[in-house]
Parts: sequence; structure tokens; C-alpha cells
Amino acid sequence: MSQARLTSCLPLPLDNKVLVNVIEKAKDWALMHGVGMRDKKHFTKDAIQIAPFVLLPSPFPRTEFAKAIELQPILNELMHKVAHDEEFLESTLQNALQVDEFTAKLYDVWVKVRSEGITQPVSLGMLRSDIMLESRCPHLENQCAKHTPYCSWKQVEINSIASGFGHLGPVSREIQSYVLRQLGHGELIKHMPENRALSGLCSGIIEAYDLFGVPSAVVLFVVEEVSYNICDQRFHEFEISEKRPDIIIYRKTLNEIYDETQLNDKKQLILEGQPVAVVYYRSGYEPAQYPSTKEWDARLRVERSTAIKCPSIQYQLAGTKKVQQALAAPGVLEKFMGGGNSTGRVRDIFTGLYSLDFDDNGERAVEMALADADRFVLKPQREGGGNNLYGGDVRDALLRMRHSRERAAYILMERILPPLVSAYVVRPGAQVPPPLTDVVSELGIFGVIIGSKDKILCNKQVGHMLRTKLAEANEGGVAAGLGALDSPFLLDL
Ligand code: ADP
Ligand code: MG
Repeated sequence: MSQARLTSCLPLPLDNKVLVNVIEKAKDWALMHGVGMRDKKHFTKDAIQIAPFVLLPSPFPRTEFAKAIELQPILNELMHKVAHDEEFLESTLQNALQVDEFTAKLYDVWVKVRSEGITQPVSLGMLRSDIMLESRCPHLENQCAKHTPYCSWKQVEINSIASGFGHLGPVSREIQSYVLRQLGHGELIKHMPENRALSGLCSGIIEAYDLFGVPSAVVLFVVEEVSYNICDQRFHEFEISEKRPDIIIYRKTLNEIYDETQLNDKKQLILEGQPVAVVYYRSGYEPAQYPSTKEWDARLRVERSTAIKCPSIQYQLAGTKKVQQALAAPGVLEKFMGGGNSTGRVRDIFTGLYSLDFDDNGERAVEMALADADRFVLKPQREGGGNNLYGGDVRDALLRMRHSRERAAYILMERILPPLVSAYVVRPGAQVPPPLTDVVSELGIFGVIIGSKDKILCNKQVGHMLRTKLAEANEGGVAAGLGALDSPFLLDL
């Protein structure tokens, strides 16, 4: 049976001349409204090029979208509780820590900070829960009992550090609205949900800043050596500066933080003579971003300080794949959430997640994956895309690691198969018009949570982003050049 498919918002294909014309307009709209990225091949700070985008919004079932929006504060709170449960994090990560040096180093920072006594009990979480529609139902071959081309959505992962696209999410809605108007279909825009992600995320930073309560304090964005995804990051700065002209923002790499900051006797992080109120990490989630001990020292200094961190180190640990897998194990959600209705709703969003520890469950998981590798994704404790293994590579890796402790650094996850959609994907430097291709989408829901271990001060859902990739591609990172910006067109099925 062929893969399920969702109906496009307009009958396709479009007339060739109309298509060429509207793409030319849309590309200029993109450049003039920050739908852009820096060019990786010919890097210059003097120019941006269009970010890849899908010309028309991709269909997404309205009820499933509503469910994702509704569930976000519940997921925020769950992550907050997990991040503050030292025993759970320790027991969940212990095997992975033995073989995964990066996670072990993050964990060491956390241990040191705790041993000195926490100076800043409040954390700022800016989370993004990534989900995909599942077109396979367990009880029927490839076709859902509801006779819709999907069953429900499943969570791919939840990001707790550097959850990007707060700007690129909302602006994707704007560019596709422009395209729909140019095509004479402005009436369809009402099916595209409002998206105030940038405003909501920046309000989180501002709220944390005000909680810090020092009028001369500054905000620090921790950035990569080279930021390709510059529009997304800068628009956060522009938004904060519009809302609160009094707040000064610095962008610094971990290396610069090492050289340019100090802790004073009150454990304030001092930058340019002022205390830092909020540290917002857009870097620091992968090993290459810590090329020397200086970067680790800088990270430790920030974590030891009174600055409110987004995220603080325990939130980053709570966002690991291993924790996601542990939450899906029997009884664990109940421990954090009790036995009520919400617990069942969260359990429903998990697809099969399996530990590869050296015990009976781990052995069973290895056997299961070797028997049908295409059904699974093998994931190490990494963020940022491009680290997971699929299909034949799952098999090869498991055969290689089967008797090695290394395997405990991975989790096994059932592969989600989303319904297909037809789309024109506009890419920089690519032929115009692009071919009409089969794509699949991944929706990200943003949440903001502020609080300490015992008290949550703010918890809300603030917006969304949609990324779309070719149906046959394994991963769809936009910054990595695989995916494309998109936004949902809500369908009543
Ligand atoms: P990362 O932290 O590197 O972003 P993810 O778990 O989000 O890791 O995986 C990266 C990408 O791989 C996802 O955006 C998605 O496109 C694909 N992917 C991950 N897990 C699954 C899955 N279980 N089923 C289908 N695709 C997946
Ligand atoms: Mg991801």
C-alpha cells in the first residue's frame, strides 16, 4: 500500500509562468524580511541569502495542531520537574556517562555547581517539542481506522537548549501569506494559525531579566564562532530592543566569555563592567563548540554565576535523548505527573523508545532492531542534527557495538512515518521553478517556563515552527541545508 498523503492547500501543479513569477517575488520578500541565512560556501558578514522555504503552507490536521498546543504547558512542567530531580537524572544518565565524554563533561559541570551550592535557583526554559504525524496505525496496515491519512502525532524529541526558529517560524507564515495573496487566494490565510513565537520567547527573556532585578544588568547571548542562522538570532535581539530599549544585549562565544567575563564576590557574572542578568545559549550543545578547556571553563563560570541561564545545565541534561527514552519506560511518567488524565495524554505522544543498556531489555531491543532495522532510528546523546543513524546503518552500528559498552550511549527509537505532501521547495541557487516534490513535515511547538525547583513562576505555550524535508531524506535541518521553512495550513478532516 502506498504511503498516506494529505491534500495540498491549492490544486497543484501551478501554471509554470505563474510559478516563476511568484517565486521571483517571494525570494525578494524573503531577502527583505529576514527569511535568510548566511552563505556557508562563500561566507561573508555583508550578505545573507534566502533560507530554503516551501512556497505554499503544508497541510496539518487542525485537531492534532490544537492537541499539540494544549499539551505544551504540561510538557514544560514535566521537563522542569525532570531537570530538578537529581536522583532521576543521575540514575538515567549513569551508563551513558561512562562512554559519552561530552555528556559526562556537562554532568561534571552540574556536579561542581551543586557541590558549591546553587547561586541562582531560577531557570529559564525556552523549549521546543518537535513532533511528526504518524501515518501508520499499529492495528491496521498503513491506513488509519479513522480513515484519515494519519493516526495522531508522535514526539520526535524535546529541545531544551538553543531551540531555534522563533523568528523563522512566524516569518514563514508571513511569506506564505504573501504568496497566497499574490496567487489570488488571500482567503486561505485564515487557515494558517497565528504565530507569535518570537514575541513569546523574547518575553521569557525579559521576564527573567526583570526577576534578576538589577537595572544596569545586561543580557548575554552565547553564540557560535560563525552564526549561519543569523537572522533567527538577530531578530530576537531586535524584538527585545523594541520591547525594552533599556536592555543591552551582547553576543559572545564561549571563548570570548572566558577572556572577557569575571565572577565578582557576589558570584555575579560581570561583562563590560555590568552584571549579566540572563544568559541565552544559542551554542554550547555539541562537542565541536568546546574545542578547548577554555570553553568548558567559561561554561562552568556561567553556571556558577547568579545569571539566570537559558537553559541551566540541568535543563540541558533533561533534554538528552536518554532522558526522553527513560520517561517512556513504565511508571516513570506517573512518578512525575501522578496518574491523572495528563499522564495518559503524554504517554500517547511517545513512539517506541528503547534503552540499549546491558540488561534483558537492552538485549531485546538489539534483537528487535537487527530483525527489522528500517523500522528504527539509532540516536546518540547529541543535538543539532546529523548524528542519528537510519536503516542499514542502524544494523551495522548495532552489529559493531553489540558487545561494547559504547552502545549504552545510544537509544533506539521507532521511526515515525509521516503522511506525504506535495510541495515546491525554493532554495538558494537552485533552478526556478523547482520540481513538485513529495515532502514530509515536522512541527515544533515552543514553550516558555520560568521557575525554581519548588515554584513555577511562568509556564506557557508561545508559538510554533514547521520544517519540511524531502520525503526520502532522513533528517531535515534547515541550517544544515536539508529542510525548508514552512508553516501549517490547518485542515478539517
Ligand atoms: P537532533 O537533536 O539532532 O535534532 P532529533 O532527534 O531531533 O535529533 O533528530 C533529527 C531529525 O531526524 C529529526 O528532525 C527528524 O527529521 C529525524 N528523526 C528523528 N527521530 C525520528 C523518528 N523517530 N522518526 C522519524 N524521523 C526521525
Ligand atoms: Mg531535533
